[in-house]
Parts: sequence; structure tokens; C-alpha cells
Amino acid sequence: MKENDIQRLLLWYEKNKRDLPWRHTKDAYKIWVSETMLQQTRVDTVVPYYERFLKKLPTLKDLAMIPEEELLKLWEGLGYYSRARNLQKAAKILCAEKFDFLPPDKFLLEQLPGIGPYTVGAILSIAYEIEEPAIDGNVLRVLSRVYEESEDILSSKVRKKYTEILRGLMKGASPNLFTQSFIELGALVCTKTPDCPNCPLNNCCKAYKHQTVLSYPKKKLKKEKPVFLKTVFLFQYKNTFMIHKRQENGLLANLYEFPNWESFLTLEEVYNILAQKKIFYKNVTFLGEVTHVFSHQKWHLKVYKILLEEPIFHDFLLQERKF
Ligand code: SF4
Repeated sequence: MKENDIQRLLLWYEKNKRDLPWRHTKDAYKIWVSETMLQQTRVDTVVPYYERFLKKLPTLKDLAMIPEEELLKLWEGLGYYSRARNLQKAAKILCAEKFDFLPPDKFLLEQLPGIGPYTVGAILSIAYEIEEPAIDGNVLRVLSRVYEESEDILSSKVRKKYTEILRGLMKGASPNLFTQSFIELGALVCTKTPDCPNCPLNNCCKAYKHQTVLSYPKKKLKKEKPVFLKTVFLFQYKNTFMIHKRQENGLLANLYEFPNWESFLTLEEVYNILAQKKIFYKNVTFLGEVTHVFSHQKWHLKVYKILLEEPIFHDFLLQERKF
């Protein structure tokens, strides 16, 4: 890739970029919030969350001060709740150090919880116009095709190599536009089904030239995710459903869930458990099975609805949890 390829990419970006709310600001705090929300989540999903979040928490100080329960409520539905908790931890650290903004300091940003090299690069280049590359999955996909990268693109060696290549290519361009144009090209053109004839980099793209586009990026085969079987109980009393707060640590820490059991239970086993726990009910209905996929594990859930005669006030979850 050469300087004129970057010029073509920047021109393409100016004409084709999407109008997204975080593109109307240079406030590093807002850019940080958007980048954190965009990790593992689609742009369309993030937009309303981003707007609601910043309406309620317009400054770093507001984020540091909000009670955790309220913060998680704002995040509800976005998933990966550790992102919200890390945002707040980092905000508290900065406020304790007397910052009321995200400083343009690479070393300091790297020390904060939840902020990896990509987010550091995005904050510095987009908010502060500092020549620090931001390489996410979209950018890696573009680079792997342009250079026909034969190694696993998720390896730190490959990431390091392209960080240096991009750092060199950034010189002379606006770091903000440079970063955003690569991300946008990966999101809109160099996708799983790339639109190579309309791509501003097709002149310099080796994979396009050699007709090998779909062979890239190369990734190591992932290990199968472990599967957990669980039975979920929807205890209904009049118009209310019983919920349970999860433990303080681990997956989905401190969040609410329907009571559940760590195995698949037959209807007969459910009746036995209800009898043992002295739970009085009108009827039990099997509602079906669902699968929930996390980034690192899968839950197969069998769901029963239990219509109660009287409310339950004790914690139904007497089993020891394994995760
Ligand atoms: S030419 Fe095709 S493969 Fe190469 S960067 Fe553009 S869209 Fe991606």
C-alpha cells in the first residue's frame, strides 16, 4: 500500500461514511464509550444505547459516580457486562487521579481496565489526532487481504507487524480520518462478501489481483465451546415471576436471572424437587428448550413454568454453582 492508495481510501470514506452519532464529537470520553459498546456488538444495536448512556452520563465524573445497579440497567440488553463495569472502574481511577477527561496519554490509557491496544489507538487517533493505529477485526480483515497474510491474523506477531505498517502509512494523513476510513472499509466493503470492484484499495490488493480474496483472513481453528445443560424455572405467582441475584464474581456477576438447576431435569424430577423443597403449586408446564451462546461457552436450557399456590420467599438455588 502506498500514499496514493491511502488518498483513494480517504476520498472513498468522505463520500461513503455512515452518519453515526459518535462521528459528531471529538470528546475522548464519548469516543471511548462508543468504542467499548461496539466491541462484539453491531452498530445498529449500539446507537440507541450510546445515546441513552450519554444522556444519563454526559461526563466521566457522572460515570464514576453512578451506582452500579443503575449502570447495569443502562447496559441491559447489550451483553458482556464486564465492559460496563470496566468503564466505571477506569472512570473512578481517572477521577481519583483528578482527571475529568480521558487524557491523551498512551501509557496511562494502557493501564486502565478494559482498554486494550485497539481502544487506545481509537481514542488517541480519533479524539486527539495522534498517530497511533487502531486495529480491530475489520481492519485486520482488510490488511490480511491486501497483503495476502499467510499467518493467523489474531496472533500478536501479525498485529504488531501491521501496527508498524499502519503507523508508517498514517504519516501525512489525519489520524482520525485514517483510522475511521479503514474501519469503515472493513465494515462496508471488505466484508465476508467483499465488493472488490468498488473498493478504493483494489489497485494494491494482492488477494484481489490473485483472485484469492475468500482465502483470507487466515485464522487458527477455534476450540469447541464447552456446553452446559441447565433447567430454568419460571415460578409465577399471580402477575409476578421469581428472580434470583447471581453471585458477586464470575460470569454475569450480580445480575438477576430466573432460578435454575445445573442439569436437564425431566418433568418427574421437577415434581420431586418441588415436593422436597415444599413448594406448593397449581401446575407445571414444559415450555421448551433454548440455547444461549456466550463468547466462550454455550448453555442449553430446558424451561418449565410453575404456577404457584403461594409465593416463595426462600432462595430456591440450593445447589452449589460451578460457573
Ligand atoms: S479489493 Fe476486495 S479484498 Fe481487497 S481490500 Fe478491497 S474489498 Fe477487500
